[in-house]
Amino acid sequence: MRTALVTGGNRGIGLEVCRQLAGQGVHVLLGSRNYEAGAEAARELAAAGLVECLELDVADPASILTCRQLLQLRHLRVDILVNNAAVLARGGALELAEDEWLEAVQVNLLGALRCCRAFLPGMVEAGWGRVVNVSSGYGSFAQGLTGPAAYSVSKAALNALTLSLARELPETVKVNAVSPGWVRTRMGGADAARSPEEGARGLVRLALLPDDGPTGGFFRDEESLAW
Ligand code: NAP
Repeated sequence: MRTALVTGGNRGIGLEVCRQLAGQGVHVLLGSRNYEAGAEAARELAAAGLVECLELDVADPASILTCRQLLQLRHLRVDILVNNAAVLARGGALELAEDEWLEAVQVNLLGALRCCRAFLPGMVEAGWGRVVNVSSGYGSFAQGLTGPAAYSVSKAALNALTLSLARELPETVKVNAVSPGWVRTRMGGADAARSPEEGARGLVRLALLPDDGPTGGFFRDEESLAW
């Protein structure tokens, strides 16, 4: 049975990814920076499959280290990493406060990088791994980086990290970025076009790519996007 870690799994798209992966027979570690919220979400998904909560704040290096140690003690390897946790601060590059910039970089870029550094070596050693970096159309140069500044810049950097990691890793460990589209969550708002179920599908596809699947790409559903 494969094991997946989904960051920010307690709500929104992350929660739906946990549900869909569990439904496909994956052992899901639902990462949540608030343990109670994550445990409650994991209980709600119990009928879908094997889901357990892991307290994980991706902005805190000590929290990631603790998770890694905990999993090592249980002889559990992360096969699939879904870097989903993110924050969105609205405002232009000059308007945003420095701490809003720092939080965007801490969570949206460095959080994903830290999780990769913690869990990718195990995938390389095992000769199998899938990493899904949840990005956004707002992080695309080709689409004009049209989102709020800190969010767009941090997602563009996450895209760059995706490409860089894919170059560095063997083909057996696939690293891709994905745009879920505009989704009805706390971040996307009630007017968004897609349900969390629709938004999550493209992420789950990349999480379960076959051995001949792509690496170093940027996708929305099955469509390849320009960076
Ligand atoms: P959401 O409902 O706001 O959920 C964000 C999740 O990230 C929450 O679980 C939140 O936890 C978690 N999070 C934030 N900071 C964290 C930290 N330091 N450590 C761990 N978890 C943290 O957002 P969403 O719409 O589901 O978005 C999921 C992903 O899709 C994000 O990467 C987002 O950028 C991307 N995306 C969304 C849309 C959209 O329209 N919704 C569009 C494009 C891309 P708490 O509950 O503790 O705050």
